[in-house]
Amino acid sequence: MTDRLPLPSVDAARAIMLAAVVPRHPVTAPLDAQLLGQVLARDLVALRDQPPFFSAAMDGYAVGADGLGETAKILTVIGESAAGQGFSHGLGPGEAVRIFTGAPVPEGAAFVVPQENATRRGDQVDIHPRDQSGPYIRAQGSDFRAGDTLLARGVRLDPWRLGLAAASGWGGLEVYPPPRIAILSTGAELVPPGASLRPDQIFDSGSVALSAWARQKGAETQVLTPATDDARAIRDAVAPVVADLIVTIGGASVGDHDLVKPAMKDLGLDLRVDKVAVRPGKPVWFGRLADGRSILGLPGNPASALVCAELFLHPLIAALSGATPEVRILPARTTQPLSANGAREHWMRATLRADDQGKPWATPMSDQDSSLLNVFAQSNGLIRRLPGAAACATGDPVEILPLDRM
Ligand code: AMP
Ligand code: MG
Repeated sequence: MTDRLPLPSVDAARAIMLAAVVPRHPVTAPLDAQLLGQVLARDLVALRDQPPFFSAAMDGYAVGADGLGETAKILTVIGESAAGQGFSHGLGPGEAVRIFTGAPVPEGAAFVVPQENATRRGDQVDIHPRDQSGPYIRAQGSDFRAGDTLLARGVRLDPWRLGLAAASGWGGLEVYPPPRIAILSTGAELVPPGASLRPDQIFDSGSVALSAWARQKGAETQVLTPATDDARAIRDAVAPVVADLIVTIGGASVGDHDLVKPAMKDLGLDLRVDKVAVRPGKPVWFGRLADGRSILGLPGNPASALVCAELFLHPLIAALSGATPEVRILPARTTQPLSANGAREHWMRATLRADDQGKPWATPMSDQDSSLLNVFAQSNGLIRRLPGAAACATGDPVEILPLDRM
């Protein structure tokens, strides 16, 4: 079937979708591992220096400038500075302080002599002749200084960034709450995983795959009970849902049983994208309901749904999360000749691997039918073929999108 008007490109459709969504209002949440994956709603500025004092980088003896030389020195040990229990006095000539890693270096100390280079005798210590390394003192603020901007608004909190936020003095962070996504599969043939089914029915694999996929990208998901191919049932399933984005699976094309868009008319659907020049996934659509909820309609075939998730749902989740949407396209080479592409951007399921030099190669799966879930489950990437792309020989450059396989 041909379309009367040229369909929007993937990039154009994505831009229309992204223009329609805004992140949720930021909230302040305690700084703990629960924040993993959430997005900072304001720049993170250090509240204090790190380290907050000059600190010992070794276990040993803090000594003054006179404590090291070409010959051995004998110094008097006047106290101890341990991590969390600093030595409150200064250090004079002929004196040393026993010190441990992470402890504050006392006033007047110029070096920490590692304990291997010293011999303790009672309250005295012999400092061996000076070696070249040292001074084994970490300067105050050498990691970061109070007032430094350490993280920019819009970054996703990962383990390293959470640690940095804690070290810089924060006990809670302002973040965008994760977007709430409701997933509705539609089709009279669908039965929940593991339930008993008639010979003409199949298991609803789309809901679980898309829900897990969206969680991996940082969304909160809710899977609705699949609706049969009945406009009223579909409308009633969507109407009460509290969500920032509703994702429907199936019923997207123009068959007698493709009723999702018609059903949404009752909820004031403002259809902004209706089909995209993409393969697989051409029937994908997007709009806004009268109450402000966004709705993304994915085609039901597993490969179509999951490719459209990569191309449209991923950036939508990023935008709803307050992060910068991006589709991560990387260069690779093809291990197989590829035929010339038609008018739609083609996303081929593929396996990616690195050669001996670490260079990436992509092998397209031999069967690209959009119904094949097993093929997708064996892929770890997609190859992008732009509209009208010329045929490729083995070894030619191609563009790839790696999948977040675990
Ligand atoms: P549709 O987009 O409704 O025409 O569906 C296209 C194909 O995808 C049909 O073979 C459906 O049975 C299948 N399909 C639709 N939704 C799902 C789902 N949630 N899980 C698995 N297959 C589905
Ligand atoms: Mg259907």
